[in-house]
Amino acid sequence: MDNAIFSKIDQITQRILGGGEMTAEEGRWMIRLDDDYLPWLMAGADRIRKTFRGNEIEVCAIANVRSGNCSENCSFCAQSGHHKTAAPAYDYIPATDLVAQAQQAREWGASDFGVVSKGWGVRSDKESAQLEEYFAAMDAGSDIGRCASLGALTQESAQKLKALGMENYHHNLECAESFFDQVCTTHTYQDNIDTINNARAAGLRVCAGGILGMGESLDQRIEMAETLRQLDVESVPLNFLAPVVGTPMGNRTPMTPHEILRAIASYRYMLPRAEIRIAGGRQFLGDMQSMIFMAGASGVMIGNYLTTQGRSVDDDLKMIRDLKLEVRGDTQQRRAQQNKAAAAV
Ligand code: SF4
Repeated sequence: MDNAIFSKIDQITQRILGGGEMTAEEGRWMIRLDDDYLPWLMAGADRIRKTFRGNEIEVCAIANVRSGNCSENCSFCAQSGHHKTAAPAYDYIPATDLVAQAQQAREWGASDFGVVSKGWGVRSDKESAQLEEYFAAMDAGSDIGRCASLGALTQESAQKLKALGMENYHHNLECAESFFDQVCTTHTYQDNIDTINNARAAGLRVCAGGILGMGESLDQRIEMAETLRQLDVESVPLNFLAPVVGTPMGNRTPMTPHEILRAIASYRYMLPRAEIRIAGGRQFLGDMQSMIFMAGASGVMIGNYLTTQGRSVDDDLKMIRDLKLEVRGDTQQRRAQQNKAAAAV
């Protein structure tokens, strides 16, 4: 092992802790480091996470309110109407089901709950009316943070969502711009960037990340991180491709645990202040799942994902608490109870 490499990791760590940045060139170096240096890298990423994100882990959950037969051709996606997969296809679920799922997520300790619909934006009055019904039902039935992921947003639709009480908007870049033509050809990378900018301009908190392990190069993983940094994205979900039979990416080899942890750590160094939340593909970490936090992750999606089953929620929450980290939703509920008790005195 080379002491110069340990020193360089330390120098970059100190620079970031002092308020500086890691360059994209350093990111490309970091994401290639040999497995021998991973524990050292994770120790630095853990310090950066604790410094900028504290000891709380943000937990969120999603509901897939409409699934399948999507007009877009995203190569990884089980829901695309361009591929033949076994993913379920259904129209909007009843609002009562959505609220029940939101309440369940709140009980688990989730601070945010995402309404996710396949497709590319809210295009018809029927879709718009359905969303209004959902948001009104959630207002009445749960105090959980509201998040939506509905595809492309115009300035007008972003403002409308904000007016309906939406707080966060999720829209992934999916990958680096230089790889996007291998992922989707029915919309453009610029469409994704415009959506992020429109959401932010409407006052929505932006959650945008992507999927690693789709066949992109290591440089392209850092390229996406650099774009997210330039867009000043607050919350970055990272997924790791779970190849779906019937999609063009169905025969990809999943990332190894070391590769996943090195990618998470590199993202923490590139985006020291961002919420980095780990979503789909965590299963490829095997017994190393709890290491995502030591690698710099500050959030995790619990429950089921769009078309795949997640790990048991009890196991996830136990994992966080065993690490002596706090679930942010628990902290919020405790503060709310303390405030209520203080107000009653
Ligand atoms: S990722 Fe979204 S837009 Fe792309 S095919 Fe799947 S559901 Fe459609």
